[in-house]
Amino acid sequence: MRGGIDLGGTKIEACLFDANLEEITRRRIPTPRDSYEGLLDALVEQYEWMRREAGVERLSLGVGIPGIVDAETGLSLTSNLPANRRPLRQDLSRRLGFHVPFQNDCKCFALSEANGGAGAGYETVFGLILGTGCGGGFCHKGQLTEGRNGLPGEVGHLGIPVEVIPGASPPLIRCKCGRNGCYETLISGPGISRMAKSLRGVDLQAHEIAAGAASDIGLGEVMDLWAALVCELFRMLQATIDPDCIVLGGGVSRIPDVLALLVRHMPDHLIDGTRMPDVVLAKYGDSSGVRGAAMLASAVAPEQ
Ligand SMILES: [Zn+2]
Repeated sequence: MRGGIDLGGTKIEACLFDANLEEITRRRIPTPRDSYEGLLDALVEQYEWMRREAGVERLSLGVGIPGIVDAETGLSLTSNLPANRRPLRQDLSRRLGFHVPFQNDCKCFALSEANGGAGAGYETVFGLILGTGCGGGFCHKGQLTEGRNGLPGEVGHLGIPVEVIPGASPPLIRCKCGRNGCYETLISGPGISRMAKSLRGVDLQAHEIAAGAASDIGLGEVMDLWAALVCELFRMLQATIDPDCIVLGGGVSRIPDVLALLVRHMPDHLIDGTRMPDVVLAKYGDSSGVRGAAMLASAVAPEQ
């Protein structure tokens, strides 16, 4: 058995898996918002709950977090938790008495989907989460690519090449990272709402805009622009890592017929004369993050 923890901005999900990564049981608790010590206590509490459920003295554990853990310093770089620039990985490892691997939650998603998920069988897999934000991870032969800073896949903070979308004038929005016009500001769920507000003057959620696109030409144009922008991101992925497969996750990926919309736009944006990547939906959905976190744990703390 092994445990995974998906540490989010609002909840901490713990999930116990068997040796074949089949889920045994899971539990969610709210994320402490105001105290680093409280956050550590909550992570220990979730670990202890899984350990008791498993009936073992020590359980292998991996943790996924929003943000990046610096591989050299171990500091968490995360704006959504009361742990920014704190050594959360070291402090949790010290509390539990063994090394606990941490990884960015989008990379946990990519790892999960590349191994037994929707990207299984492909040599190169890019996992892309389109939800309240936008991030991803890249796996080669089932292994995450770590890079110098743990950054591969942080595509949400690349700039959108607006000039390549003829006739469209998407809004230029300041991103939480401090730059203007990052992909995340327009292709995330809130980004779709921003485009509808800016271009059509309506206040709607992403799923409402998608639902109205068939009957409302203006909303249809917003969704077409969204698809064109996502396909520009696919083009960038082609030009850098040329993935065999792109696995989509997050709330925006659950919009009905989202794959058909993207596939329709891909030929206009991907590199001419190339084989397109297969674009598929996640197999494990919202559970992929915690599943990938548990996969980090496999060889770290032997079970007793
Ligand atoms: Zn940004």
